Amino acid sequence: MGRAGRGIAMTAAVLVCLQAADKQRDLKPGFNLFSKDQDVQLGREGAVQIEKQVRVLSDRDLNDYVVRIGRKLASQAQADKYPYTFKVVQDKAINAFALPGGPTYVNTGLILAAENEGQLAGVMAHEISHVALRHGTNQASKANLIQLPAMLAGAVIGNGSIVGQLAQLGISFGAGGLLLRYSRNAERDADLLGARMMSQAGYNPIDMARFFEKLEGESGRGNVVTQFLSSHPNPGNRVKAVQEEIRYLPRGNYNADSGELPRIKQIVGGLKEEPRPAAEVSAANIPSSRPSSQLKQYRGRSFLLAHPDNWEPYGDRDANMVTIAPRGGLGRSRDGQVHVAFGVMVSYYSPPNQERADLRRHTALLIRQMQQNNPSMQAGRDGSRRIAVDGEAALVTTLYSESVIRGEREVDVLLTVARPEGLFYLIFIAPEREFRDVQGTFDEMLRSIRFSG
Ligand code: ZN
Repeated sequence: MGRAGRGIAMTAAVLVCLQAADKQRDLKPGFNLFSKDQDVQLGREGAVQIEKQVRVLSDRDLNDYVVRIGRKLASQAQADKYPYTFKVVQDKAINAFALPGGPTYVNTGLILAAENEGQLAGVMAHEISHVALRHGTNQASKANLIQLPAMLAGAVIGNGSIVGQLAQLGISFGAGGLLLRYSRNAERDADLLGARMMSQAGYNPIDMARFFEKLEGESGRGNVVTQFLSSHPNPGNRVKAVQEEIRYLPRGNYNADSGELPRIKQIVGGLKEEPRPAAEVSAANIPSSRPSSQLKQYRGRSFLLAHPDNWEPYGDRDANMVTIAPRGGLGRSRDGQVHVAFGVMVSYYSPPNQERADLRRHTALLIRQMQQNNPSMQAGRDGSRRIAVDGEAALVTTLYSESVIRGEREVDVLLTVARPEGLFYLIFIAPEREFRDVQGTFDEMLRSIRFSG
């Protein structure tokens, strides 16, 4: 072939790629206040808790089999290199679940229900996709919990865990808990990413869709399958959507099935029933500091901020939320939840329906939410005042409330700025009697804010 001919052939190949890219859905993690490392930390803590509540099996053949399938899938680019682990849980319910950051569990009930290895691999690829697309912490982020930055601080100090703190906010890994109950959109995306992952690993993606349809068909007959479906709602037309996706995948050589599933099912069939272990929970307690005039810089994922150098940032630099406070500024209310009595919390509010942040309207929504958390909270008489932060329009609203920790009156000054990521907010909290002394610190912090990205 001559030079020109090769050129034409290449153009044709590029066109085919472009066409496929045009139709194939772009799958990326959505709005998230957590960093990837925090996903991993959350998952590790969650795994410790969950393994106290379920019966993790130690049968070598059984584990090796599930780990082998898991690794085949997790080594594909779609799995995004999280530290995945795979374990088998003795439970008749047809279920599997994966915690943020990678710990993945497969129930014996699922192994028995799968008709071939592809079906089992399909459910696992779907679970791995929820991890890679960060669906758990995306949901927790979108729940707009004002206490989330404080919770994170609670997890860093003492023996408080992220999982324990999230549980206090009503976010849990339990049945119906926010971290493991996905939206239909998340289900569709996990199906599609899972299909791509399966195909690359040598499994036919249609096995995943068919298995979900089978579960759908069997549910409503009062059996155990609904557990999976209640946390993974059917996005509709699963088989068709996956079939369409397959058209864009490289023509696969689906030869990954090891043929071992029948032998593995026999092992599962021969297991003895063992009781589940009982669960336990713990909490920490914290002792009290004026901000120093020396400032130090904190760099968040999309903002820079200076803070008194005797205050500590509790958060991950890669995350879009942080609490900066003196150790004595954090305390627990009677229900064990961590609150900030003195310090600042910085985060983003996610406007409903993925709207662009609107400064006035969404500030009003955020204030309403703060009032729901603390019914004693009231706006000051002056309302909101307009200022500029890093050249952008901002609102400062002063609120007064009764501290849930100390019982005394506290001032909560709220700063909001509409940003592409959502409504940026900073809440500066101080006891009312000390507020005059620290107002200068607050003003300096506001002046120091710079947005990036
Ligand atoms: Zn799902």
